[in-house]
Amino acid sequence: MSLPEFKLLRPRTTAEAIALLAEHSGDIRILAGGTDLLPSMRQKLFEPQCLLDIRRIAELQGIRPQLDGGVEIGALTALTDIEHSDLLRQHFPVLPEAAKTVASPVLRNMGTIGGNICLDTRCLWYNQSLQWRKSCAFCIKKDGDLCHVAPGGTKCWAVFSGDTPAALLCLDAEIEIGSTSGLRRVKLADFYTGLGDDYRKLHPGELLTRVFLPASSANYRGAYRKLRIRGSIDYPLAGVAVVLKRSNGHIEDVRVGLTAVNPAPVLVKGATELLAGRYMTEEWAEAAGVLAAQTAKPLTTSVLTPEYRREMIRVFTKRAVLSLAAET
Ligand SMILES: Cc1cc2nc3c(=O)[nH]c(=O)nc-3n(C[C@H](O)[C@H](O)[C@H](O)COP(=O)(O)OP(=O)(O)OC[C@H]3O[C@@H](n4cnc5c(N)ncnc54)[C@H](O)[C@@H]3O)c2cc1C
Repeated sequence: MSLPEFKLLRPRTTAEAIALLAEHSGDIRILAGGTDLLPSMRQKLFEPQCLLDIRRIAELQGIRPQLDGGVEIGALTALTDIEHSDLLRQHFPVLPEAAKTVASPVLRNMGTIGGNICLDTRCLWYNQSLQWRKSCAFCIKKDGDLCHVAPGGTKCWAVFSGDTPAALLCLDAEIEIGSTSGLRRVKLADFYTGLGDDYRKLHPGELLTRVFLPASSANYRGAYRKLRIRGSIDYPLAGVAVVLKRSNGHIEDVRVGLTAVNPAPVLVKGATELLAGRYMTEEWAEAAGVLAAQTAKPLTTSVLTPEYRREMIRVFTKRAVLSLAAET
């Protein structure tokens, strides 16, 4: 499968990138590591006239501690750098834990945190060649008006399958988005729409520039558990991030984030209320697992059954909560 033709634009500054986005608005795609975009272009899921290659923009790179104890991460920071960052491992361990499960080492060297946050949603009926999709009369997400996953429905159920956003939601992360109108800062939780097709609130002409981890989320214990076909490389088919803080042996706060089981990554509502103030037991961990499984709404968008994926959300949540509560 060959790449469609495109014009490559290579800005060196954020301002230049934003100006190019505005100039070519509508027919341009942002290229960071390219590890998801380029395979999708080969499948003719995107055929933009221009690609904006942002990899030369040095100001979008790096992990920087903030004076207040928070951390700022440039959108172009490679997942490998997040995985190996001592600062993040010490103070925000759930993020490197999630980053180290993305794809494979080579893809993590290329893939960026910005690309992981903006990652396209996935579905068995969508991530296929043009010929394959044509033979099935296409689907709502691309070129058609059918949903093969929920026949008769008008909503797209393609699944958000990035690993790090579940962890970032647990950390209450914010993102900064730049355009010719200036910079806007939004909570990551408000960035996703919950729709499989129009899945993120990123307007044409906008560029994700930075990610912020607030000081209030520092020093939580963190774990990430993931279900995938091949342990060495695959996208998640169910993913659970958990952060937990203990005080005097009891749970002070706990947050659970899910990915790959809904059209958006989501925080499990009620997890803190369920567990805060309690001494962790098998029963309470099980209750957290059940709550998480109720939040997961997987459909037949992947090769594993929805029932199995939901069950693994329960199992992963229970195990993660138990192990974090027991950590010394
Ligand atoms: C075999 C294989 C296995 C994979 N396994 C996993 C996995 O296990 N987990 C996982 O999470 N991902 C996986 N991926 C997908 C991908 O490698 C990662 O999600 C990676 O983080 C994407 O980052 P990137 O920089 O390469 O994004 P790109 O491919 O460059 O871009 C992805 C999307 O984000 C947009 N984008 C990128 N940067 C910005 C920005 N700064 N502002 C606005 N929009 C932007 C692009 O326009 C595009 O729509 C896999 C990919 C492959 C090929």
